[in-house]
Parts: sequence; structure tokens; C-alpha cells
Amino acid sequence: MYQLNQIPSEAKIRQYLRQIIFGKNMFCPNCRSRNVYATQRRYRCRKCQIRFSLLSHTWLSNMKLPLQQFWLILWCWTVQIPVKQTIACTNLSEPTVRLWFDQFRTHLPVDEQILETVVQLDEAYFGGKRGYALLMGKQIGTRKLAYHILSEASPAKCDAAAFLQTYVKPGTILHTDGSGIYKKISDWWPVEHKVDIHKKFEFELTSEIEGMFGVYRTFIRRMYHHVTRDKFPNLVGEFCFRFSHPELFRNPRQYLLIALRLVPTA
Ligand SMILES: [Zn+2]
Repeated sequence: MYQLNQIPSEAKIRQYLRQIIFGKNMFCPNCRSRNVYATQRRYRCRKCQIRFSLLSHTWLSNMKLPLQQFWLILWCWTVQIPVKQTIACTNLSEPTVRLWFDQFRTHLPVDEQILETVVQLDEAYFGGKRGYALLMGKQIGTRKLAYHILSEASPAKCDAAAFLQTYVKPGTILHTDGSGIYKKISDWWPVEHKVDIHKKFEFELTSEIEGMFGVYRTFIRRMYHHVTRDKFPNLVGEFCFRFSHPELFRNPRQYLLIALRLVPTA
């Protein structure tokens, strides 16, 4: 493995993990007692007698990689190093790298946002004939996104209405293109609807959300190269999470603070 400046020493990583998972004071992950003591690299609870290690009660309990290699692959994922480059950098196989990237993505928290004020809503299609339709809304001028994936390639008005009812606050100004699925949508949910007619070259009202679809396609091509059909919903989730919360992707510590902590952040 390469020695890189952004990868801390093993001792430092252990210290980070301890702070991230347990906070200031060690506690028993089973009974929450603080009456625990360390024996070599493991811990034991005096109250309930269980033995535990730093990772034994987290989703990393089965991790077999040396800590520095783990930190390197997580660093690659957080800063969007392409899969191919990550393989070359970590000396791990492609299935292993993809599996770890899947793991990191799976453990992102659920991020359901209600959009308000002025929202652009648009749909895009992925994966060819038997592909998916993606409905995505963006609160303009902000990093707030909401999305819904439909397994059939052509969304209907009820899908657009359901999207608004779930993710858009009543009273919002809604910008869409002239697609039939949005026609008279304000009869189904209280929004002030404004329409772009694409044929007349009026792209202004939906420019931000159309930009997002472009950024998504670039992100997938650059980082993952290709994606299998079953991963599509998760990848859209990862993309939106990265866009809405860039601070979590600055380095592995920021991500792990949200994804690995045993106690809620104060
Ligand atoms: Zn205990």
C-alpha cells in the first residue's frame, strides 16, 4: 500500500475511531455502563461482563482490512476517486472496491427534506427501454433536493401529484416544463404552478434541476463508470446526499461521525 499524507498512522486512526464511536468516555455498547476497562486491544464491561472491541458493535464488525487500508478506501470514496483509480491505489480487487463503496453508500443516513418557497420539478429517464423515471425537485438557490424513482419508464400525473404531496410544502411556487403530467397539477396540491414551454426555448424556469441531471450523469460516468440496474436507487441517494451535505464528504472522519457513531450527536 502507498504511504499517503492524508492517511493517518494506525494509532491515530484507532484514536479517531474511539472518539467517533464512543465520544469522550468509553461505555459498554451492550448495557451502556461506563464501568469498562481495557485489556490490550479489547475492552470489558464490569457490569454485564461482555468483551468488546472498537468496532465489534458497529457495521464494521467484520472488517478484515488493516485500518490504514480501510481509511484509504474510505478516503477514495468520500472525495470521489473513480473506482479504477481506487483499485490501483489500494491494491484491492474491483469487486472488493465496489462492495466497500456500496457499504459506505448504504450507511448514509436517510435524508428526507420538504422543499418550499420556489421549487423546480423535472423528470429524467435512465437505463434504456426497461429503465427508470426519476422525478427530482430542487428548492432553487439552495442545496435542498427531493427525488422519487418510478420503476416504469413513463410517469403519470398521479406520480407527480404524489411527489408534491410528499415533498413540497403547500403554498410553494412550482416551476416545471410543459409535460402533460404537470398539467393543472395545482388542482391536486396547493402550489402556484408556472410552466416553461421547451419548444419555445424557454428553459429559464427549470434550468437548475436540468443541470442536476447533467451533474448526476457525469458523477456516475466519472466515478463508477457503469452501474447495475439494482444499484440505481442507492446511487441517486448517494448523489443527492453528496450535493445536499458536502461537509460530510470532506474526509473519512466527517463521514464516520454521521455513519458510525453509537450515540447520537449532541
Ligand atoms: Zn455492559
